[in-house]
Amino acid sequence: MAGTGLFAEILDGEHVYKYYADGEWKKSTSGKTVAIINPTTRKTQYKVQACSQEEVNKVMDLAKTAQKLWAKTPLWKRAELLHKAAAILKEHKAPIAECLVKEIAKPAKDSVTEVVRSGDLVSYTAEEGVRILGEGKFLVSDSFPGNERTKYCLTSKIPLGVVLAIPPFNYPVNLAVSKIAPALIAGNSIVLKPPTQGAVSCLHMVHCFHLAGFPKGLINCVTGKGSEIGDFLTMHPGVNCISFTGGDTGIAISKKAGMIPLQMELGGKDACIVLEDADLDLVAANIIKGGFSYSGQRCTAVKVVLVMESVADSLVEKVKAKVAKLTVGPPEDDCDITPVVSESSANYIEGLVKDAKEKGATFCQEYKREGNLIWPLLLDNVRPDMRIAWEEPFGPVLPVLRINSVEEGIHHCNASNFGLQGCIFTKDINKAMLISDAMETGTVQINSAPARGPDHFPFQGIKDSGIGSQGITNSINMMTKVKTTVINLPTPSYTMG
Ligand code: NAP
Repeated sequence: MAGTGLFAEILDGEHVYKYYADGEWKKSTSGKTVAIINPTTRKTQYKVQACSQEEVNKVMDLAKTAQKLWAKTPLWKRAELLHKAAAILKEHKAPIAECLVKEIAKPAKDSVTEVVRSGDLVSYTAEEGVRILGEGKFLVSDSFPGNERTKYCLTSKIPLGVVLAIPPFNYPVNLAVSKIAPALIAGNSIVLKPPTQGAVSCLHMVHCFHLAGFPKGLINCVTGKGSEIGDFLTMHPGVNCISFTGGDTGIAISKKAGMIPLQMELGGKDACIVLEDADLDLVAANIIKGGFSYSGQRCTAVKVVLVMESVADSLVEKVKAKVAKLTVGPPEDDCDITPVVSESSANYIEGLVKDAKEKGATFCQEYKREGNLIWPLLLDNVRPDMRIAWEEPFGPVLPVLRINSVEEGIHHCNASNFGLQGCIFTKDINKAMLISDAMETGTVQINSAPARGPDHFPFQGIKDSGIGSQGITNSINMMTKVKTTVINLPTPSYTMG
């Protein structure tokens, strides 16, 4: 169970969790806590420390000192510790998954999957790091015009320093380790600011790293509301790199952060373009999985269907039939549709639904909401003047726009301020490739719904969907810089023969 057994030391009294610094679990001197509301019961489930600015300063100093030693720790030893943490994480999947269920209302089975996937990600990162960081480059000078062979250039990758990791609520564990593991294998230290909803899952995950035996001060986790300590963290002079995943907050952070590498993985409005020759059963299955898993609270959820008019009726019928079979209820019962993360999210989604209603969208189901629980809703005949055609609902509401040409679909996709992923359904691979080339998104999936993963695939958005690229290899590279040493040889050199 969460907060018991091995995890007892992270608790301070009933349901109040400590923060992690200098290899120890601590209470904040602020004396304040932040409540985590269970999206299902809408009651306080846990509390976490509201860390103060002084505590953030202290953590930054600790992380800086610990990083210097860690960078000198042999790569194989860094990998060994990561493998150990991965094994502990997987062994303790149950209590961590329990926190995900209570904090973010993720269905029980998916919560376990998130933890296991996270362990696998950590192990893969350790292996990939050993391979790619174990190699450097050797260049000779006489390939550039005007030079003799008098300079030997050696390059290798070195760490950046302190990496600030800020994941979002929807994959708090997986998206935290996707930042922590590459940072650590590359020789950086970590300051993690977990999302408020998801903080306790993150604290349990951090404890697995603690149990693995990483040096003190190398991994730190400060809790508190992003709106209160976020700016202080992201503008802190001790931070050498920010890896952030979330919504528009990331755009604001990019404008305020200093001259440091930024990895920003932000929102999306992933389009699903359906051509006349598509296998409509396959499309319907992918729309259900892509649009409604975790109640649509995924960055790569299908967020708008752009279907050719000639097959639209048939597709909508197939999707409607599948929506009717989705189970709706609490995450503990492993329902398909569970409450969205907060009341404000539910209100936002409702605003989009009302706007679509006023402007004449066809409701394929009746709109129904109880607290934060919103029943799955397919909106047909959505037009570009409706907010739902462009905005990210982050809930179980999916708009269908009928199109009369491929160009119209591409135009809608590219007119979005987002550019995360998109997908195309057709049996004509040539057409699919041409449409993929024309779509202004970081990734295009052919004949499958958008997805982040497998976790070693490159993953990136353009426009308001972010900067930089994720995926294990890209993250390791992004959290390093190139160091060059040039050996200058005397002339003349020895002659051969
Ligand atoms: P969010 O509101 O932007 O929050 C993301 C993180 O930022 C949270 O940890 C939050 O902490 C923190 N934060 C808030 N204000 C901050 C500030 N001023 N400075 C620094 N950090 C601050 O996003 P969310 O609601 O958690 O997640 C949903 C969004 O994430 C969606 O837009 C989704 O598309 C996007 N997302 C993108 C990807 C991707 O890889 N592209 C993946 C998953 C999700 P608090 O919780 O304490 O406020």
